Amino acid sequence: MNIYTRLGIRPLINATATLTKLGGSLMPPEVMEAMIEASHCFVDLNELQQRVGERIALLTHNEAAYVCSGAAAGLTLATAACIAGKDPAAIAKLPDLTGLKNEVIIHRTHRNGYDHAVRQVGVRVIEIGSEAGTTPHDLECAISAQTGAIFWFQGAMTGHGDLPLPEVIRVAQAHNVPVIVDAAAQLPPVSNLWRYTEMGAALVVFSGGKDLRGPQSSGLILGRRDLIEACALNGCPNHSIGRPMKVGKEEMAGLLAAVERYLNLDHAAREEHCEQVVTAWNEALNRLPGVRARRDFPNEAGQPLPRTLVTVEAETARIDRDAILAQLLAGDPAIVAASCGTDAFYLNPMTLESGEESIVLQCLLQILAVSERSDRQV
Ligand SMILES: *Cc1c(COP(=O)(O)O)cnc(C)c1O
Repeated sequence: MNIYTRLGIRPLINATATLTKLGGSLMPPEVMEAMIEASHCFVDLNELQQRVGERIALLTHNEAAYVCSGAAAGLTLATAACIAGKDPAAIAKLPDLTGLKNEVIIHRTHRNGYDHAVRQVGVRVIEIGSEAGTTPHDLECAISAQTGAIFWFQGAMTGHGDLPLPEVIRVAQAHNVPVIVDAAAQLPPVSNLWRYTEMGAALVVFSGGKDLRGPQSSGLILGRRDLIEACALNGCPNHSIGRPMKVGKEEMAGLLAAVERYLNLDHAAREEHCEQVVTAWNEALNRLPGVRARRDFPNEAGQPLPRTLVTVEAETARIDRDAILAQLLAGDPAIVAASCGTDAFYLNPMTLESGEESIVLQCLLQILAVSERSDRQV
């Protein structure tokens, strides 16, 4: 029994990705130890935030850093920082934007569920471009005296007719408008922790609870010192728009430990391990009638790691994709995999604990073997 089964909840093996709704990622021992250590005594939260930020900034080659309660909270704070800055009256007034800049620019193709975190500051979203393309001129025309920031969402939504990020940054800088990058799931590669800011993004937001494997309710804002200071003033424990997005001392300590661990991780070995898992899955699955498995690259949000794409020809396999996913989820242990199109699904080694890759394969082979056997009995 564990805490989840005592509550009547089935724990899941996550073969999808670092999805927040499934728990994001699992904290390694060094992160949990840091959190437990931090839980033993009181501390001045502003001072802790300051020191942790300095340390993370140094480690990630950034001017400044701030620990927030998740990437979505990071988007809200980054927006508030660009709109209200460090002005106490403006900070107290948000989301009332009277007398303040009240617009942000987002590619139409980048619009997604997370831009609610931006809009809750009260700003109006000015959309640019389309699937057919976006020009520097489109961006120029959208920029006005009301523009507080330009957002760039990096992930599955990127690369569909958008103006490349370096171009966005070039135009933005010419107008002195900050570019904020949502890079919530853009790890690995570890170099993304400094790549976007080196490109000239003013702020970059990462989730602490995805591949960094920090506390699930943590996030990281990296970038320009003046804007990071503004994020802090617009955040907890100050009475501000960010006050409900509290970050505890344990989360700050945990995220720092997670960043330190991530920087020291053998990323090449991990990549190699993922390749081996995918190769083994593909070899085993391709022996089955009606099943085709191939290496898919890059990963779910564009991370440079492989996953397996399994396509099911239902008539030959005697079972369709939906039934396979349903049986994986209903099985013991319960396994979650992500569907693709109408007849395929992904198996992702990225979020699996050591040994779970074999469990996933065995469960899948059993489901498919049973479907084959029942066919022979007919
Ligand atoms: C996951 C994700 C977020 C939110 O991250 P949280 O840490 O769960 O708040 C925001 N933007 C994108 C693109 C994401 O993938």
